[in-house]
Amino acid sequence: MRYLSTRGGMQPQSFTQIMLGGLCPDGGLAVPESYPRVSPAELADWRGLSYAELAYEVLHKFCDDIPAADLQALCAKTYTKAIFRTEAIAPLKTLAPGLHLLGLSNGPTLAFKDMAMQLLGNLFEYVLARSGERINILGATSGDTGSSAEYALRGKRGVNVFMLSPHGKMSAFQTAQMFSLQDANIFNIAIRGVFDDCQDIVKAVSNDAAFKKRQKIGAVNSINWARVAAQVVYYFRGYFAATKSNDEQVAFAVPSGNFGNICAGHIARMMGLPIARLILATNENNVLDEFFRSGRYRVRPPNEVTQTSSPSMDISNASNFERFVFDLVGRDSGLVRDLWSKVDAGGEFNLAGTPYFANVKEYGFVSGSSTHADRLATIRRVYKEYGVMIDTHTADGLKVGLEQRQPGVPLICLETALPVKFAETIREALGRDPDYPAGCENLESLPQRFEVMDADAGAVKAYIARHTGL
Ligand SMILES: *Cc1c(COP(=O)(O)O)cnc(C)c1O
Repeated sequence: MRYLSTRGGMQPQSFTQIMLGGLCPDGGLAVPESYPRVSPAELADWRGLSYAELAYEVLHKFCDDIPAADLQALCAKTYTKAIFRTEAIAPLKTLAPGLHLLGLSNGPTLAFKDMAMQLLGNLFEYVLARSGERINILGATSGDTGSSAEYALRGKRGVNVFMLSPHGKMSAFQTAQMFSLQDANIFNIAIRGVFDDCQDIVKAVSNDAAFKKRQKIGAVNSINWARVAAQVVYYFRGYFAATKSNDEQVAFAVPSGNFGNICAGHIARMMGLPIARLILATNENNVLDEFFRSGRYRVRPPNEVTQTSSPSMDISNASNFERFVFDLVGRDSGLVRDLWSKVDAGGEFNLAGTPYFANVKEYGFVSGSSTHADRLATIRRVYKEYGVMIDTHTADGLKVGLEQRQPGVPLICLETALPVKFAETIREALGRDPDYPAGCENLESLPQRFEVMDADAGAVKAYIARHTGL
């Protein structure tokens, strides 16, 4: 399996080559040269597999430069009850006949990003040990991504993590999750500023090519292909759990921000999984809903991005979307390059009226959006009718999923976080505190380890150099 750039300007590369990189050299995203197909016989065999076994079967199709036995061992080491608190790893909860929640937030940080990031941590360690290299991950976070990366990479050989976050601006729970880590390879840097200041520092440091090379700076952001590939697994798992035979079709409802999660659903469908609909849900930041309704992709300037009660979906630009558009336009990399020359300049494109946009339905996509009031109403309704507490992001997905549901087609709503992470909105909706999962009760009273710094790229570089000794 070889990987190409969506913009056509990269020599074909292997899975582990693209795994350690970020954007392709031409600014595009890495995609497989073709999607592997799953035969009916394989699909029948896969139905009975454990999560770890299924993960191996799926990933094996995307990764041919890690020996099979090693990949199998990495999957077995990752998808355990000890890490994901449940034997099923991604348990299916049935609310009513034909209406399900797929639990993706039972990992260490209680959000779905752990599903892929935990594997990525083990893949990184394995590949670095094989090559004798070291890498220093630099990132910026406003919450879920940073903590998920830290929990995946803590204590791993060959890797340090330098994570910038806006000082005093994350929720108490998210702050405690990150800052209570005591591992020597984790460096939390609280920047006096907002999230954009953190992101600007990451850009400035990465633009210093000499520094980047000397310090071996890498990233684990949401465009990482290995993360997308690892997410494909739970679409298969959810399908098997919600159906009795492989002749049935299902729909998935996916709370979306950077289009990473639902991109994996698209790939599962391209591999042959019988998915009737991929239902994309946004919050008030509806850049993706606007595209799927109208064909217009209009990136929002920072001052148009609203802070919402489903903050992990507050995006201006969906960083993985280019992967889907590449397929939608018949894998025409010249056209993708043209479209994204507009996006990268802060502009927009419009596919309305083109034959490409007419194809959106053939790819199974429909969409909708949700507001704060919708979230409150959905959280209340699910709690009252089914006795189940859901988080704000899951509520966005469920609200749109129910609107776009088709009779006779089971609907699987992806649960992307646990309610405890967004306690304030739960109290607003239900007038009570969310339940704390076992082991998290005392998180906020643990000692915290972090460095407070000004929003100054030079100072951050000096801090990194001091701690790596390079
Ligand atoms: C990251 C995240 C999302 C959005 O996922 P994308 O892959 O960016 O579309 C939704 N919900 C939660 C809780 C998240 O952390």
